[in-house]
Amino acid sequence: MRGDGPVLVALTGLVQRAFLLGKMIPEDLERQISLAEAEGAVPFLVSATSGTTVLGAFDPLEAIADVCQRRGLWLHVDAAWGGSVLLSQTHRHLLDGIQRADSVAWNPHKLLTAGLQCSALLLRDTTNLLKRCHGSQASYLFQQDKFYDVALDTGDKAVQCGRRVDCLKLWLMWKAQGGQGLERRVNQAFALARYLAEEMKKREGFELVMEPEFVNVCFWFVPPSLRGKQESLDYSERLAKVAPVLKERMVKEGSMMIGYQPHGTRGNFFRLIVANPALTQADMDFLLNELERLGQDL
Ligand SMILES: *Cc1c(COP(=O)(O)O)cnc(C)c1O
Repeated sequence: MRGDGPVLVALTGLVQRAFLLGKMIPEDLERQISLAEAEGAVPFLVSATSGTTVLGAFDPLEAIADVCQRRGLWLHVDAAWGGSVLLSQTHRHLLDGIQRADSVAWNPHKLLTAGLQCSALLLRDTTNLLKRCHGSQASYLFQQDKFYDVALDTGDKAVQCGRRVDCLKLWLMWKAQGGQGLERRVNQAFALARYLAEEMKKREGFELVMEPEFVNVCFWFVPPSLRGKQESLDYSERLAKVAPVLKERMVKEGSMMIGYQPHGTRGNFFRLIVANPALTQADMDFLLNELERLGQDL
């Protein structure tokens, strides 16, 4: 075990980096799998994320797929938030390797703004897995002796029976906007997030949690009374109280809605998501000015 010393130290550094960036570290994943096996557990699935909810981070899928391939594990990619980036030729590299996944979850109702709800589960499987898992073959439903290929009947693949045809919304939207129209939406969301991040760097009262990789702009609003006080012992504690107050003020004012949350050791920060395709740079300027206005006496 003595030989593990430097490796462990290196990994601790890695884990800290992983935590700060919010990403999985493939070397550590492999180690965690071995650890679990050593404890008698049987790992069977790795769930990676493309576009994490808070930080908007993308896991390195190629390297994770390599680990899954070596270990014979199912690779699921939670692309609920980030899956729509595949529609952008410019940004789709963030999901390189997703083609190697066994399953992918994607919510067009998020970045593409399809009407709630519209969620897709994509499976590589060709063995009719969902039907084998969920099908109840009720004799009074889904007759097998129809005039067409009954494999087209999807009703017996899910736990529920009655359901809305949510995919129709996606199909209609795609038809109406075209691939290029949807790509423009994605690219515009990235561009507005970038604009916001650059504008925040120019203003005194804004501090980015990190450079946005996606459209999540995570930041602290630092009110006048806390500026230049980073060294004070109670700085983080006081800063964490700012977002809830500003949120209350913007809601009561009726001007904006921006979510906030703590994240690990980081105190409350705002997470600004720009997804509405009707938004413009002028809206971003309003938003920054409004935050300054609402927080000027704090
Ligand atoms: C929104 C989100 C989910 C939840 O999706 P539901 O379809 O609402 O269950 C899961 N994972 C990530 C990363 C998300 O952003």
